[in-house]
This record gives sequence, structure tokens and C-alpha cells, in this order.
Amino acid sequence: EDDGAQRILEAHQWLAKLYHHFLVNTTEGKEALQYLTERGYSRETIDTFNLGYAPDKPDVVATFLEKKGYHPQEMVKAGLLSETDSGGYLDRFRGRIIFPLRNHLGKTVAFAGRTLGEGQPKYLNSPETSVFHKGKLLYNFDLARGYIRKQNRIVLFEGYADVIAAYQADIGASIATMGTSLTPGQAELMKRYSEKVIICYDGDKPGIEASVKTAKELQNAGIHVFIARVPDQKDPDEFIKTEGGDRFKREVIDTSEPFVGYLMRYYKNQFNLQVEGDRFEYLETVLREVAKLERGVEREYYLQELSKEFSLSMESLKEEMEKWKPEAN
Ligand code: ATP
Ligand code: MN
Ligand code: MN
Ligand code: MN
Repeated sequence: EDDGAQRILEAHQWLAKLYHHFLVNTTEGKEALQYLTERGYSRETIDTFNLGYAPDKPDVVATFLEKKGYHPQEMVKAGLLSETDSGGYLDRFRGRIIFPLRNHLGKTVAFAGRTLGEGQPKYLNSPETSVFHKGKLLYNFDLARGYIRKQNRIVLFEGYADVIAAYQADIGASIATMGTSLTPGQAELMKRYSEKVIICYDGDKPGIEASVKTAKELQNAGIHVFIARVPDQKDPDEFIKTEGGDRFKREVIDTSEPFVGYLMRYYKNQFNLQVEGDRFEYLETVLREVAKLERGVEREYYLQELSKEFSLSMESLKEEMEKWKPEAN
């Protein structure tokens, strides 16, 4: 069993090298390389992330890995080949840009492949294997770890492309999930390394909704959550490309705000505060979040805000909030 895992890792290492070679050294990879360059990735970044290209052929992987002593069934188990209905084999990734997915030790355990154009699905991931559990992995955690420790913060993005652009713009503590919602395991892992997470999801509606969901989960794990907002419905990497890394740092990351403040504004758009019932629901929703804040001064600050806004006494707000305080342990 352990031996199998070792061989899968080795196969990924070989293949990542091959894909990278296709991207940077061959005619087949030219269009892909140009695409990445146009997205603003430098050659150094392409090398750091070991980005690659899988040619649009059915049997590159099988031919290559067979020579290294792998059996097709092993490659299927590794998620690198698919079985066809007629009993044959087919490369899983064809005609796609390859993002190697590395574990916390820097070992490539899976791949994500992006179409060059508008094909579907946009991203294709490796399936779950004995070495790849997408709910446990955080993209770029191996490179980000040192920065996370030093800066005592994590910057969490939605997409691989955003992480790479941010990392290139000198935001070292950048990571992402695997295109799925955050799992409790991932939240715990983050908590072990840093008390503070800045969520920097896409500026569009799905991104905003996902940030609220993720923020609640991180907060439940005891993490101090901040929200960074990318203007104009942009993705972080688009902002970095058009406005530059310095502006991204100054205007997006450094101006991130504590989740509760963000939430108060977010819910204001969800509730009709002229209606009494909605007003109470809004208050309860916000107070529950305020109650979770660890620092007294912070709780006080947001209670003041609510007190002003609704002309309610601090005493009554405090009393209401106490109901939602998590048990001290
Ligand atoms: P790009 O900038 O390359 O267009 P993105 O990272 O902005 O991609 P989003 O559509 O914002 O892509 O999705 C965020 C993340 O969700 C992606 O990085 C990827 O991990 C995952 N994802 C997106 N589309 C798919 C898909 N069709 N299948 C599986 N995962 C996907
Ligand atoms: Mn998006
Ligand atoms: Mn994007
Ligand atoms: Mn995106």
C-alpha cells in the first residue's frame, strides 16, 4: 500500500517535469505559454509553480510512463489515465495547461488542468487517490508556510490563478482551496499556523456569497477573519494585472476589514430594515457574530455601531449579545 503511494508520487514527479517541458520548450506548448504570459506570469513564476502543458493527444502519458515501468492500471489508480468504454486507455489531461497540486511537503500529488479557451469544464482536477484528498489540501501551502508563520496571517483566494498572481506580487502567504468549499480539516490546518485569515475571493456575487460562508466557518474555528474586497467584480489576478501588485497590496489587502463590519453591511442589503421583523432578525444575526469576537474592545465597537444605528441602549444590546456568547472553556 505504502509502496503504491510512493510510486504514484514518483509518477507525478516525472509527469510534472514532462508537462513543464512541453510548455516551455516545444512548439506544441507555444500557445499555452503565450496564454500564461498574457495573463501576466513571468518565466520565473512559471518555473516556481512548475506550470506545464498537456499536449492534445490521447497517449502521451501512457507511452511515457510505460517506459518508466508503470502499468496502465497503476496510472488509472493514480488518476492520470482514464479507461475507455472499449477497454482502452486515454490520457486524463489533454490540451490543457497543467497546475501541479503540491502537498505541504512540496510533493506533487495531483494535477489541475485548465482549458486554453472556453472549453468545458474550465478546470479539470485529478480524482481522489491514495495521495490526493482535495478536502485536506491547500494550494501553495508549502511555499506559503514560511510567510504565514512570519507574518502571522494567511491570504485565502478562490482560484489557483489568483494565488499565483498574488505570490508573484510578493504576497507570500497566499493559498487557495481546491475549487471546493472550505472543509473543517482545512480550517484547522490554517488555525495551526496563523490566527488571522484575510479572505480575498472574487469580487462578483458568487465570490461575495462564498466569502461570507467561508468567513463563518473560519470564525467558528476560532480564527480572526478579515475580508478584502476586489472592486468592479474583478478577480484578484485581474486586478493585479491591470492595476499592479502595489495597488493590490495597498488598496485591497491592507484595507481588508474585520468580518463583522463587512457582515453588517452585507446583511443590510439582505434585510429590509424598515420592517420590524427584519430589523430584529438583522440584529440577532449580527449580535451572534459580535458575540464570537474574542476581544472585548472589538465587541464594544460593534455594539456602539448598532446602538447608534438602531437607537438602542448599550445595556440592552449587551444583554442580548450575552445569549450568543460561546461557552468559555
Ligand atoms: P481563471 O482565472 O483561470 O478563469 P478562476 O480561478 O478565476 O479561473 P473561478 O471560476 O473563479 O476560476 O473558480 C475558482 C476555482 O474553482 C478555480 O480555481 C478552480 O479550482 C475551481 N473551478 C472552477 N471551474 C471549475 C470547474 N468547471 N470544475 C472544477 N473546478 C472548477
Ligand atoms: Mn469566480
Ligand atoms: Mn479568474
Ligand atoms: Mn475566479
